[in-house]
Amino acid sequence: MKVLKFGGSSVASADVIRKVKEIVGQTEAKKIAVIVSAFGGVTDLLLDTAKMASEQDLKYKEGLKKIEARHLTAIKELLPVASQSRVLSKVKSEMNVLETLLEGASYIGEITPRLSDKIVSFGELLSAYIISEFFRESGLEAVYKDSRELLLTDDKHGKAAVNFPESNKRCKAYFNKEQSTVIVLPGFVASTADGNVTTLGRGGSDYTASIIAAAAGAEELQIWTDVSGMYTANPKIVKQAKPIAHISYEEAMELSHFGAKVLYPPTVQPVLDRGLPMVIKNTMDPKATGTVITKKSPEEGRTVRGISYIPNISLLSLEGPGMIGIPGISKRLFEVLSLANISVVLITQASSEHSICIGIDEEDAANAIREIEKAFAYEMSLAKIKPVIHEKELAIIALVGDQMKNHQGLSGKMFSTLGKNNVNIRAIAQGASERNISAVIRKEDVKKALNTLHEAFFEENIKQLNLFILGTGNVGSKLLGQLKQQKKYLKEHLRLNIRVIGISNSRKMYFEEQGISLEKWPELLDSGIKADSTLFYDTIQKINARNSILVDNTASENVAATYPKYLKQSISVVTCNKIACSSAYGQYLELKELAREYKAPFLFETNVGAGLPIIDTLKHLMASGDEVIAIKAVLSGSLNFVFDNFNKTTSFHEIVKKAQEQGYTEPDPKIDLSGIDVMRKILILARESGYKLELTDIENRSFLPEEALRTKNNESFFKVLKKYESDFQHLLKEASTKNCKLKFVASLHKVKASVGLEHIPEGHDFYSLSGSDNIVLFYTKRYPEQPLIIKGAGAGADVTASGIFADIIRIGNY
Ligand code: ADP
Ligand code: ASP
Ligand code: MG
Repeated sequence: MKVLKFGGSSVASADVIRKVKEIVGQTEAKKIAVIVSAFGGVTDLLLDTAKMASEQDLKYKEGLKKIEARHLTAIKELLPVASQSRVLSKVKSEMNVLETLLEGASYIGEITPRLSDKIVSFGELLSAYIISEFFRESGLEAVYKDSRELLLTDDKHGKAAVNFPESNKRCKAYFNKEQSTVIVLPGFVASTADGNVTTLGRGGSDYTASIIAAAAGAEELQIWTDVSGMYTANPKIVKQAKPIAHISYEEAMELSHFGAKVLYPPTVQPVLDRGLPMVIKNTMDPKATGTVITKKSPEEGRTVRGISYIPNISLLSLEGPGMIGIPGISKRLFEVLSLANISVVLITQASSEHSICIGIDEEDAANAIREIEKAFAYEMSLAKIKPVIHEKELAIIALVGDQMKNHQGLSGKMFSTLGKNNVNIRAIAQGASERNISAVIRKEDVKKALNTLHEAFFEENIKQLNLFILGTGNVGSKLLGQLKQQKKYLKEHLRLNIRVIGISNSRKMYFEEQGISLEKWPELLDSGIKADSTLFYDTIQKINARNSILVDNTASENVAATYPKYLKQSISVVTCNKIACSSAYGQYLELKELAREYKAPFLFETNVGAGLPIIDTLKHLMASGDEVIAIKAVLSGSLNFVFDNFNKTTSFHEIVKKAQEQGYTEPDPKIDLSGIDVMRKILILARESGYKLELTDIENRSFLPEEALRTKNNESFFKVLKKYESDFQHLLKEASTKNCKLKFVASLHKVKASVGLEHIPEGHDFYSLSGSDNIVLFYTKRYPEQPLIIKGAGAGADVTASGIFADIIRIGNY
C-alpha cells in the first residue's frame, strides 16, 4: 500500500484535480490511500466566515456563498452532467448544515473552539467526497472513507492530540479489510471519543497521511504539493533555493519545526518510528525528483542542509538580582508556560543566571506575560525580579543539518554574514540536538537574512550585489552599459550576480526589487517618479536588500553629505565624486571609520586618475608597511588634454570647450582649470598616504587670470578665457623657447603639497604624456630612487565607469 497526500494547491481547481487523478492512476501499488486537503484557500475562507458570523457581521453570508460556489463549480467541471445531480444535492445539503452552524454562531455572537472545528472540517470533508466521486467517474476503483472514523483524538480543539493506540488499531483493521484499490480520505479532521469533530492543527493533512501510512504499514508516504520538494530555503523568498534530493527524518523535522511549511512538523514522527520512506513531490511537475526523506541522508559532507525561519516571534526576558544562584526559577517559568499551553520555541540563558530569555509565538505573548507576572508576583513586589521585558516584531532563523555538530566555525560564519549586512541579532540558541543554530532577528530583516545566509552556505560563492545608482550622465550611463555587457561574465568567472535595483538622476528615480532591465533602463527611469533624495534613501532602507551598494556618479555636494547615513545602514558606497574625501579631514576620517565599524566598504578609486588603480596600489603599499615620501603627478586628464592640444594655431578657450564636450572635464570646467580638481586629488593621495592635510594647506600656483577665477557660470568663464588668449599664448611660448612642454603638476613631499604649471623638459617622465593621460610617481621607502609609476588614461566617461566597476567588484570580493 502507498499513501499519497495532496495539499490545498494540488486540489485548488478542476484542472489540478485532473492532474491528481493522473498521478494516482499511474501509481503502482495494490492499494492506494489518497489523503486530500480542502480545496486551496477554503480553510481560510471557512475560518474568516466563521469569524464574521461570530462578530455578527452579516458579510459572513457572502463568505458562505463563495464556499458553496467553489464546490459546486468543481462538481460541474469534473463530473459528467448525468452524474452531477446526486453529488450536487449532497453538497447542497451539507451547505445547509454549514449555514445553520454559522447562523448559530452569529445568533450567539460567539464561536467556541469546538464549533470552529466543526465548521472548518467541511473543507476536507467536501473535497474528499467530491474527489472520490470524480475518481470513480474517471474509471478508478475508488471509495470514500471518513477519517473521523479512523483517527481518535483528545478534545483540544484546533490542535488535538492523537490517541495513537486506538487510531492505529482502527486504521490497521480498516485497511486490512478494505478491498478497493483507491481510498480517498479527508486530511486534517478527526474525532473525540464522544464523536465530536476535531482538527490536527493548520497544515495537519500531512499528519493525517503519515499517521495512516504508519498505522496501515504502507511501503511509502508521498506528500504532493506545489513545489518540487523540501528546498534549501523557502523558494518563495529565496529565488536561488534548490530542492534537497535526500534528507534525514531529523533534518526534515528540524526544518519544518523552524518554519518550512512544506511539511507540518509532527508529520515526520509516525513514519520515523516505522522507518518508512517519505517523498515530497510536485503535483504541477510530477517528473521532478522531489525530496526523499529517510533515516540517514547519503549526502555526507554537506553540513548545513537547509535554512528556515519562523515569523511573528516575541522575546520575553525575565531578569533581576533575585535570580542569581536561586534554583528552580527556570523550572517554575516553564511550568507556568506549559500550564497555559504556550510552547516555547527558543531558550537562552546568560551564564550569569541573571536572566532567562524565551522566544514564543507573538500571539501567546500577552497571555504569557500575564501568567509569568502572576507566578512571580511575590519576587516582583520585592524587586528581586523585574517585570517581564517584551520585545516584538521578531523572527527566528535557523540553520539545520545533522552534521553541523562535527564542524567548527559555522556559527561564526552565520553571524559574520548577518553582521556584514547589518542584521542585528537579538538572541542566539543552539539546539540541544546540535542539529540547528538559531538566531532571533528583526522581522523586517528576514528576507535579507535568508538570502544572504543562503548565498553564504549554498551558492558556491555566487554573491549577489544590489546596486543603487545615482547619476545617469556620461559616467552613469557608461557604467550601466558595462554592467549589462559583463553580467554573464561576472556570474561565470567571478561568481558575482549584480543587480541594479534603483536608479536616479536629478529628475526621476525608479526602483525594481527584482532588478531593473539593463536594456530598458532609460525608458523605465523616464516612467519613474520625481527624484527625491530622502525618498531614495527611505526606499533603499525599506527594500533592505543584502550586499547593497550606493553608487554615486554625480559631482554633487548634497549627495556626498548623505554617505554617512548609508554607511550606518551597512550600505557600501562607491563614488567618483571627490567632494566627500576632499572636504574637512574630520569628515574624511568619519567616513573611513563608519566604513570600518559597519563593515561597509567606502571606495573612491576614481577620485584620482579615473580607472587607473592608483588608490588601490597606494593602499597596498601602506598595508604592507611601505611609507610614502613624495608623490609627483600629472593628475588632471582635462588639463593634460588642454595643454597637449593647445598650440600656436589653436585657441585656448576652444580647446577647453572641446575637452568639456568630450567629457574630459568636470561639468564646470573651472574646477579643472583653476587647479582645484588637482588639489583635491593630491589631497586625497596625501590623506591615503597617512598625512593629515586640509585643502587650504595646499599651495596652488594658478595660471588662470583672477578675472576667470571670479566668474559665476560657464558662459562668462569662456568669455574671459577668450579675452586672455594672448596671455595663454605667452605661457606656451615661454615653455617652447626652453624646449619644454607645459604640464600641470601636483607634488607632495611629506606634508607639503602644491599644484601648478611646470616646464617639463624632453626626457622627463611627464614629457611624452599625451591626450588625457595621467601619471603618478610614488617615491617610497621601498622605491626611493626609481619611483613606482602608474600611467594611463586618466579621464573620460568610459575609463571612469570602469574604475567604478572595479570598486564594485572589490566589494564583491570583500
Ligand atoms: P500544501 O497546501 O500542499 O500542504 P503548503 O502551502 O502547506 O502546501 O506548503 C508548501 C509551501 O511551503 C511552498 O509553496 C513554500 O512556499 C513553503 N515552504 C516554506 N519553506 C519551504 C522549504 N524549505 N521548501 C519548500 N517549501 C517551503
Ligand atoms: N486545510 C488545512 C489547512 O489549510 C489542513 C491542510 O491543508 O493540511 O490548514
Ligand atoms: Mg501543508
